[in-house]
Amino acid sequence: MPGSAQNIHIDMQPLGNWVSQGICPVDIMRLDRIHSVISGNKWFKLQYYLAEAKASSTNTLASFGGPYSNHIIALACAGRDNGLHTVGFIRGEMPARLSHTLLQARTLGMELVFTDRKAYLEPEKIIRAYDQPGWQWVPEGGYGTTGARGAAEILSVVPTGNYTHIICAVGTGTMLAGLINRAQEHQHLTGISVMKGNRSLEQSVAALLDPLPARRKNYTLLHDYHFGGYGRHPEPLLQFMRDCWQQEQLPTDIVYTSKMLFAVKDLLSMGYFPAGSRLLLIHSGGLQGNGSLPPHTLPF
Ligand SMILES: *Cc1c(COP(=O)(O)O)cnc(C)c1O
Repeated sequence: MPGSAQNIHIDMQPLGNWVSQGICPVDIMRLDRIHSVISGNKWFKLQYYLAEAKASSTNTLASFGGPYSNHIIALACAGRDNGLHTVGFIRGEMPARLSHTLLQARTLGMELVFTDRKAYLEPEKIIRAYDQPGWQWVPEGGYGTTGARGAAEILSVVPTGNYTHIICAVGTGTMLAGLINRAQEHQHLTGISVMKGNRSLEQSVAALLDPLPARRKNYTLLHDYHFGGYGRHPEPLLQFMRDCWQQEQLPTDIVYTSKMLFAVKDLLSMGYFPAGSRLLLIHSGGLQGNGSLPPHTLPF
């Protein structure tokens, strides 16, 4: 996997029917399709962590995540595929029934260590308590310059120079930072934060940017499309997801990509993007997260 970004196939899907409403061309890069388990942007964010592990005497990758984490499941799978043991420190007490995400992570060979919410807030202490020779720690969500370096390659696997605006969902900000670093001068990045009032995000993104002054101007973070907060998915969002599927044949996830799509549709209807804009949306994956919904909630 590391360094193999050149060999993958990526579909670009035009969204002409409904999302763009003919206002300006909108294409979505379907990273959800590149791997059945290693979801979308995680595939990119993990590549250099894996390369570092392979170039050293690492035998175990350890990281952090919640019970539905796309990062945890991706790490479990990438570790197995690369001959590395994986350990996931999971937020919260061990539940009576494991989530589908954690069951699959365990099937992929990941060792799960449940960590109460208070302890989880201090990962440095966990690292000090558990660190062993041969272990490499990957920050929660793959956050860091290593993750951003991998995410930057999203813009290099297919030609993307024609687009004026690139839009993605934002959790830790690692993917957005990578895209900002790789974007061309005429391109503007818009990040849709999926958390409620995450005021440290600006700082988290800025910390991962290349030290070029121009890089600090070509992006905008929007904080008003969280639908109540991280992981919240009220009925209007679910209905929006059904509409996306029916009218664009586009599957979205409840945590990230649905909120990003909703934002784009809303911004387009407000005339947010200047005439002549050409939009590139990043479908960053995450569809496994929909497995937490009751059966038949969504038509895909
Ligand atoms: C992890 C994830 C994100 C957020 O990426 P960050 O680099 O943490 O901002 C966005 N979309 C999906 C589907 C994800 O799994």
